[in-house]
Amino acid sequence: AITENEPERMPPPPAAKSRRKSVAAPEMVKGNKRQSCVMKPPEMQPKRGKFGEAFQPNQKFYDMIQEFRETLEITPISVTDQIQPPKICVCVRKRPLNKQEINKKEIDVVSVPGKGALLVHEPKQKVDLTKYLDNQTFHFDFSFDETATNDLVYHFTAKPLVQSIFEGCMATCFAYGQTGSGKTHTMGGGFTGRQQNSAKGIYALAAQDVFTYLHHRRYANLDLSAYVSFFEIYNGKVYDLLNKKAKLRVMEDDRQQVQVVGLEEVHVTTTEEVIKMIQAGSACRTSGQTSANANSSRSHAVLQIALRCNNRAATLHGKFSLVDLAGNERGTDVSSSDRSTLVETAEINRSLLALKECIRSLGKNSEHIPFRMSTLTKVLRDSFIGEKSRTCMIAMVSPGMASCEYTMNTLRYADRVKELNGKSKATG
Ligand code: ADP
Ligand code: MG
Repeated sequence: AITENEPERMPPPPAAKSRRKSVAAPEMVKGNKRQSCVMKPPEMQPKRGKFGEAFQPNQKFYDMIQEFRETLEITPISVTDQIQPPKICVCVRKRPLNKQEINKKEIDVVSVPGKGALLVHEPKQKVDLTKYLDNQTFHFDFSFDETATNDLVYHFTAKPLVQSIFEGCMATCFAYGQTGSGKTHTMGGGFTGRQQNSAKGIYALAAQDVFTYLHHRRYANLDLSAYVSFFEIYNGKVYDLLNKKAKLRVMEDDRQQVQVVGLEEVHVTTTEEVIKMIQAGSACRTSGQTSANANSSRSHAVLQIALRCNNRAATLHGKFSLVDLAGNERGTDVSSSDRSTLVETAEINRSLLALKECIRSLGKNSEHIPFRMSTLTKVLRDSFIGEKSRTCMIAMVSPGMASCEYTMNTLRYADRVKELNGKSKATG
């Protein structure tokens, strides 16, 4: 699984390497990176053992975490587990350490014992410099460890929602987390080299089940058809990913119905068609981006599958919105923050705050849904109202110690989304 991580940065295959003229000397010494972990140049070899304190400052934390893990009772999640999806489902997924992190001797500070639990072993230091772990436990509906496949995650998260739209629900599934935590891997499919395996992402798995249910005896007599749209929200503006990023207007009529004017909605009949649209849309999403302007981690991508009756009015029966959210990291790096970056960050924070508030309102069965707070919640308004709303949030976390603070932010956010859900259950 490790070789799948950050494959673009993997050493080039031998043939390609011979064509690369300007390989820096240290690069050549390293050669095969797998080997470089074992054979360090003599001057880099630590004085005290392989992971001596001087070389591996986090060895102590690593040992403490390993010791802690031995006390954990692990209950692996399995497809045979029962699912009774709540109206609001909040899950967490931990990705494996990637090649670069392993090379940097990054340590894994997240444990997933199962049954919805996840632990963060936050490395801390007392004033007298004694190292200790601040172990914090979180509980969600499901927790997925680094060995979980997209198939398994799909089974517990989006799959029950696909069925719900045939029952007339408005469903949403969100991938939330810092940039690099695995949102796109989960929704759009993992990468092998530069090639995205779109068939193995939640978008495609959901589409596949939509077609299965369309032909199912139970739903066939509803006489429905499926339609796909795919758009991106960047800086509060909507861009159509199925129509060369055309900028679209969001309108609200006097009945509070929200419309994205002119959004392409394509009638689809096979999974392959949808996969092609996902690929074209994803390529469109990342095209024309430089480091100076938007990149895909600063925008929300929304894939919608709508079920419409085959009557003349094409009445909406149910809709599933699958959202790859913008990275939730706070843009606090003032040095690199020009005005447009600050505006971008403020907009992302606002939309993620609005999203949390809307889901919480849904959980409280509140009359007032603050959907006007952001474009994201405006276009998803239908998903937050009434008995027929279903939501699943998958909070993604990176396992490394360097990401600890972001991981904690992500888990706290997910916890807040879930918190009221639990309370509303307790109070009926
Ligand atoms: P994000 O969309 O949250 O910024 P990505 O989905 O692009 O993050 O993931 C960052 C990197 O980590 C990618 O190289 C991806 O292939 C890898 N990755 C993410 N999740 C997993 C996973 N569960 N298993 C293996 N590799 C993963
Ligand atoms: Mg992404």
